[in-house]
Amino acid sequence: MISRQDLERIVSYNGDGDLIVSVFLDMSVDGDNKRNHQLFLSQRRAQFDELESERPGHPRQGIGEALERVESWLAEEYDEANRGVVIYASLVGDWFFEAFQFPVAVENRLVISEHPVVGPLAQVLESYDHHGVVLVDREHVRILSVYLGTPLDEVVRKGDPIPTRYGVQAGGYSQSRYQRRKVEEVNRSFREFADEVEKFVGKHQPDDLILLGTEENVGHFREFLPEALQLMILMTGSVPVDESVSQVVAWLEPHIEAERDREAHQLIQTLRERVEQDYLATAGYARTLMAIQEGKVDTLVIERNQERLGARCEQCGFVFASGVDRCPFDGAVLMAGVDVAEEAVRLAEVRGAEVEFVDAGEMEDLAGIGALLRF
Ligand SMILES: [Zn+2]
Repeated sequence: MISRQDLERIVSYNGDGDLIVSVFLDMSVDGDNKRNHQLFLSQRRAQFDELESERPGHPRQGIGEALERVESWLAEEYDEANRGVVIYASLVGDWFFEAFQFPVAVENRLVISEHPVVGPLAQVLESYDHHGVVLVDREHVRILSVYLGTPLDEVVRKGDPIPTRYGVQAGGYSQSRYQRRKVEEVNRSFREFADEVEKFVGKHQPDDLILLGTEENVGHFREFLPEALQLMILMTGSVPVDESVSQVVAWLEPHIEAERDREAHQLIQTLRERVEQDYLATAGYARTLMAIQEGKVDTLVIERNQERLGARCEQCGFVFASGVDRCPFDGAVLMAGVDVAEEAVRLAEVRGAEVEFVDAGEMEDLAGIGALLRF
């Protein structure tokens, strides 16, 4: 599995100019139940074999060795339940090697560069939150931890009925006393269940909570949660408390997707309005890259799976979208062929800005990238 800490570690990695190969593999199976990453890897290997071995910046031998390390990791460590693999390996020696696997697919890609390519990894991490899913009725609560569309842990708690006083026979209560007793019993259970949810949140640290059950139970139960937990509720829904885990996860998928789309549209709308008013926002690569490097960005908004060529100053390291030959700050020559979509994400992550990915084509009018600024 992967976490934000992994991304932070990779982002802050400094190879002092040594080359790193970043490998992204789609490990999902096709219609014939086969994985196709081997074909992709051998195609890439063949391409590098055709290159002149002495071409600077592309040491053929290093790539061959790095790909062998990738292959042996796949043979020894890869778990078939996972659909995405990301591996970073140094081209010189074997002192840097990091491999991740997780249940969602990534596009096949192999990049050689001075920094580990983090865009696709950030895209997975920023697109999936860690959900605490609470299924509740009057007798039980079930709490699931769901991340990357996968259930990670489950807690089940049954309420303890209030013990019947000795000697009181069934039917010995008056109707109103019986009702009162029932209400008391449910309240007592809900208090216990709320404690259980609080413990779960403390232990698993989900990003949000999703409450499932009948409308009546969910509405009543949420009143028992402390305010901090009520504020974490992302959505509620009607799902039977004893539904199988796979059914619960299947229910969640379209609902969470719809919620994510709604949030993305809202964010793009805010960005668009601010750009129109020229108020603390940028659109397009040139201005957005500048703002990121000046430390002004609060939230970077970028379309998924972008690649775009720009340049980097060899002297000061500043990254530019395009259209300049020399660095405006120090006059040094620029190194072309830098993927500035990747640089935008990487530099935003380095500076601790929020990064939000939206679907391709959603912000064409903003040139595919923009940012909300802090100042
Ligand atoms: Zn410069």
